[in-house]
Amino acid sequence: MTHIGIFSFQGDFEKHERMVLGLGAKATLMRSAAELAHVDGVIIPGGESTTIGKLMHAYGVLGPLRSKIDEGMPVFGTCAGLILLGPHVVEKNQFRLGALDIEVERNAYGRQVDSFEADITIDIFGAPSIRGVFIRAPIVRSVSNGIRVLASHEQHPVLLRKENILASSFHPELTDDPRVHEYFLSFIN
Ligand code: GLN
Repeated sequence: MTHIGIFSFQGDFEKHERMVLGLGAKATLMRSAAELAHVDGVIIPGGESTTIGKLMHAYGVLGPLRSKIDEGMPVFGTCAGLILLGPHVVEKNQFRLGALDIEVERNAYGRQVDSFEADITIDIFGAPSIRGVFIRAPIVRSVSNGIRVLASHEQHPVLLRKENILASSFHPELTDDPRVHEYFLSFIN
């Protein structure tokens, strides 16, 4: 059975757990690098990327997780998780994995009250579109060669894939549409 580890330092990890379980996979909420040995893929949830990054650093997870990603372990980051996957954060230095070569601007749509929902067309899924929930979301300002932009909103990439890495600036775990998680699980044979 496919086994997904969901980092549970902070953020909406329980929503990801619900999604993964709903797809018939096993889910473990995890906080240590040791648990990486037992899972087939990991999810970094949305939340506050500075907090999650600090805790990942404090618990010694950043280095081992980066190594696993480099070895090909599937990883899916949503919102704060996307920020943590990237190496460049505009005007901010914070702990991160640096595994996905993108430039990200945090909270770029504005404050909490500027959070919004929008229909996102994902060509590889076809119709219907996905309801994208954006909560103090980052804007991806640039992506390097080799990163596939699977969906955009107002010309900004919102769903990205590079080989075993999937990242979204919105929150598919907050809807009842499992297609993005299902797609992520398909990375694991
Ligand atoms: N604003 C958060 C950050 O910059 C991300 C918000 C989210 O994950 N919904 O870390």
